[in-house]
Amino acid sequence: MTSVYQKMTDAELDAALADLERQADELRALNLKLDMARGKPSPEQTALSRPMLDLVTSETDLADQGVDADNYGAPDGLPSARALAAELIGVDAANVSVIGSSSLNLMYDCVEHGYVHGIAGNEPWCRQGEVKFLCPVPGYDRHFTVTESFGITNVPVPMREDGPDMDVVREYVEKDATVKGIWCVPKYANPTGVTYSDEVVRAFAALRPAAPDFRIFWDNAYAVHTFAGEGDELLNIFDALAEAGAENLVYEFASTAKVTFPSSGMAWVAASPADMADLRRAFAAMRVSPEKISQLAHVRFLRDAAGVAAHMRRHAELVAPRFALVEEKLTEGLGGLDCATWTHPRGGYFVSFEGPEGSAKAVVKLAGELGVKLTPAGAPFPYGNDPRDANIRIAPTYPTLEELGQALDVFVVAVKLVAARLARAERA
Ligand code: PLP
Repeated sequence: MTSVYQKMTDAELDAALADLERQADELRALNLKLDMARGKPSPEQTALSRPMLDLVTSETDLADQGVDADNYGAPDGLPSARALAAELIGVDAANVSVIGSSSLNLMYDCVEHGYVHGIAGNEPWCRQGEVKFLCPVPGYDRHFTVTESFGITNVPVPMREDGPDMDVVREYVEKDATVKGIWCVPKYANPTGVTYSDEVVRAFAALRPAAPDFRIFWDNAYAVHTFAGEGDELLNIFDALAEAGAENLVYEFASTAKVTFPSSGMAWVAASPADMADLRRAFAAMRVSPEKISQLAHVRFLRDAAGVAAHMRRHAELVAPRFALVEEKLTEGLGGLDCATWTHPRGGYFVSFEGPEGSAKAVVKLAGELGVKLTPAGAPFPYGNDPRDANIRIAPTYPTLEELGQALDVFVVAVKLVAARLARAERA
């Protein structure tokens, strides 16, 4: 892609640069303090779940289908919490454990299980020499941090418009027994917003891994986070596995972090019966039983998948206008300049932006100087290394619409100025 700045004559480019420097100076003088870095719900969104806090009081019956929420027991979680979790991701409640408030924590526990004890009776990864995880990029930085923290080698795999490049994934997984896992966000992926196509899901189910202790870490964090209408349809990975005659291949994770309260929701993992038995043994060494009072509040508030869908429509009323504003401001400011592309998600929490090669760090730095904090450039790549230095993750949910509009105006000027400076540097 050749940008308008690269096509300008020297005189035109100098004039454009002077104009953009002036715009940047004007923005700097406003002393803005805005934040587009955080993938978290706005205060209006978390307020939607406050009524849940009134549902468990000193008067409340704390029994759930014969289980006392106020005592030890039910290591897989309250029966009705398991039923809700299972319904939301379309699996059998018998194969679900609802534990704690963070799905990332459960992912960590599963990696730790592979590393320390070994998956399904296999040699622990810590005794197998170098082991690898595949990381579709751009992806979720905290996934990469989990595996990196164990010294597991994170290997980037390109993302396409319908999911990871499955030719690359197949080559690694089926030929290299040191590849033990892959991080996936199959619906409204962080940060691209991509939902994996049926073909990609089926290709995952059809993998025949070289390593018996390879597992797909299927982080369905945004399963119900649609902006409008029915939203994207994700093929159920366990149905695809059954079709392919495969099992013991997937750990699926989800949580209500962005349904109710981040850090105070309920999180769960689902897997095959054999994998669940293996995980339960690991979890049994970690705790007597999970926190269940919050689970009780969740099921009394959300009830079932229909209740969650109704609640998520209220989130969408707050979230969708923010994403529409991103689309509007980027199109207005950068459309036709041939210096950037961005994704157009129908759900989730992020937009993935690609500027000119060599621009991302400079744009993040300049936007910071102009008062707008962005996710650090490179964060969506293993080891923070975006080889093209072009990707920036935009997180529009937290600021108010007014703040977001201002932040995007700054962002657009920063992108244009950096693109023009790069075009000038090319000629030097
Ligand atoms: N998975 C993805 C893809 C996320 O984007 C996030 C948060 O941003 C999480 C997991 C964290 O979820 P939890 O709060 O349940 O640990």
